Amino acid sequence: MKRIFMVTDMEGVAGVVSFTEHSYPDGRYYTVARQLATAEVNAAVAGLHDAGVEEVLVWDGHGAGAIDFPDLHPPARLLSGRPLAPWSRLAEVIGRYEACVMIGQHAMAGALTGNQNHTQSSRSIDYYKLNGRPIGEIAQCALFCGALGLPMIFLSGDLAACREAEDLIPGIGVVAVKEGLGRGSAISLSAPEARQRIREGIRLAVERQRSHPLPPLVWPGPYVLEKRFFQTDVADAAAQQPGAERVDSQTVRLHGADILDLIYR
Ligand SMILES: [Zn+2]
Repeated sequence: MKRIFMVTDMEGVAGVVSFTEHSYPDGRYYTVARQLATAEVNAAVAGLHDAGVEEVLVWDGHGAGAIDFPDLHPPARLLSGRPLAPWSRLAEVIGRYEACVMIGQHAMAGALTGNQNHTQSSRSIDYYKLNGRPIGEIAQCALFCGALGLPMIFLSGDLAACREAEDLIPGIGVVAVKEGLGRGSAISLSAPEARQRIREGIRLAVERQRSHPLPPLVWPGPYVLEKRFFQTDVADAAAQQPGAERVDSQTVRLHGADILDLIYR
């Protein structure tokens, strides 16, 4: 276990509790939120280094960006920039790593106490379901990486995100850095405490993976990905995709045999 792929987000970072004040780029505390996110990522990188990991590829998964590049610690390297590269090209890169981890993660849209809960777009997506089961970004990432042979072994975020991860991947290492009271408020650990727990938790997760390995997450296909949107015009656009099935004015189903081609469509 020498090479780790790390997916980062901002909404699951301690002290980052509001879309409008922290996570959106026009928020008045967005700059601070980026510093907090970068420091949690660095704590995770340090924990991986403690565990003997030699290569870490950090993917800045927050839409507007959450990592302050000048402050990123070695041995991490940063994958960033929008628009995203094609998923087939990303798959080639991710497939070079041995396991994946998520830092700063939030729960799926609709999670009752999930702080800043959302699935992909906080402004347009009501829910995603895969083969009838509600999923969020954690399942999307774990299934995409799982299809490439990478188990997801650790996640930090709010308590609802941690529970979602444990439900999906029993035995995964988790660190809850805050407890959501609602979509726009949460009780956070102090920043130093959050970083300390992440550093320690991720180190233990790597060590556990060496002695008692978790398998990559793979669900049996074929797959039906159902997406419900808040707006009919967004559903109109989604329904234009080849093979898309319009279920009702706001809901579209996509069908596929290969999870790599489907899960981020
Ligand atoms: Zn985000």
